[in-house]
Amino acid sequence: MKAMVLRETSPIEKEPLKMEEWPEPVPRFKEILIQVTVCGICHTELDEIEGRLSPKLPMIPGHQVIGKVVEAGPMVRRFKKGDRVGVAWIYSACGKCDFCQEGEENLCSEFKGTGCDAEGGYAEYMVVSEDYAYSIPQRFSDSEAAPLLCAGAIGYRDLRLAKIKKGQTIGLFGFGASAHLVIQVAKYWGMEVFVFTRGEGHQKLAQRLGASWVGKPDEVPPKKLHSAIDFTPVGETIPLALKVLERGGRLVIAVIRKRNPVPPLDYAQLLWDEKEIKSVANLTRRDAQEFLHLAAEIPILPEVQEFKLEEANQALYLLKQGRIQGSAVLRISKSL
Ligand SMILES: [Zn+2]
Ligand SMILES: [Zn+2]
Repeated sequence: MKAMVLRETSPIEKEPLKMEEWPEPVPRFKEILIQVTVCGICHTELDEIEGRLSPKLPMIPGHQVIGKVVEAGPMVRRFKKGDRVGVAWIYSACGKCDFCQEGEENLCSEFKGTGCDAEGGYAEYMVVSEDYAYSIPQRFSDSEAAPLLCAGAIGYRDLRLAKIKKGQTIGLFGFGASAHLVIQVAKYWGMEVFVFTRGEGHQKLAQRLGASWVGKPDEVPPKKLHSAIDFTPVGETIPLALKVLERGGRLVIAVIRKRNPVPPLDYAQLLWDEKEIKSVANLTRRDAQEFLHLAAEIPILPEVQEFKLEEANQALYLLKQGRIQGSAVLRISKSL
């Protein structure tokens, strides 16, 4: 099978992903073999490729995978050949530790990330346990569904952790793949949304999707935020968000790694008054399942740009530059 493979971490500008011929994986026990139709691209892949995370090497990245089941292992019960399925960032967890038992499998020390600790979807085929695959609501095309699996599902987790109530004001810092889906959920839940982003295209998209106020990250909004989610890859946003946070407010940091250090935080100015900072690690299967259901009910309309599999380096470069509007996916084979 064809796959875009990472053999050595390096800046995306050097086009480190190379097209290779790999043997088609064979599904064992509870695994299903998926013929991939599309795979979304994500900032976390930039973190892997550029070495801020440590993927197993060589690696086939990609953790927003849509495709159809073409073969099933002997113990598979939930899916059959021809079913459309999705795979998200959670590839597996141990299922036995205290975290797993409490439904916090995202914190499991044996958590495996798709396309990081196990081969992902930048390829014609991949295997995954049926326990970690999802049925995809009919109303979404493959391209529309892919970004729901990370940008959407982790965005939903961010929003849940933001502990917001109806009618409150939430601030979104950065307006990429995740935020443009989160705003649609936040509006549906009756929140007022302020968006802080530099890019003109991103600002326009935020306005079109119903932001009540749009400004740059260092601008002061018309009122304080009950909560905020920081989607940006830079450290400077954290003090800026804390500055405009209401007393008792919570800042949720939605990224796995920041590209540069967080500046010193002045306790009296930025943290006192019971302000909280909470990071988000990974996601659970429950997040993905609940979000797919909610996304179909709202319905969420993802903005999607398609690239070819062999254009993965270029698509990720555009993502790094902030030049993708909404989400981007790699088209790997024709949808049914
Ligand atoms: Zn992701
Ligand atoms: Zn565990």
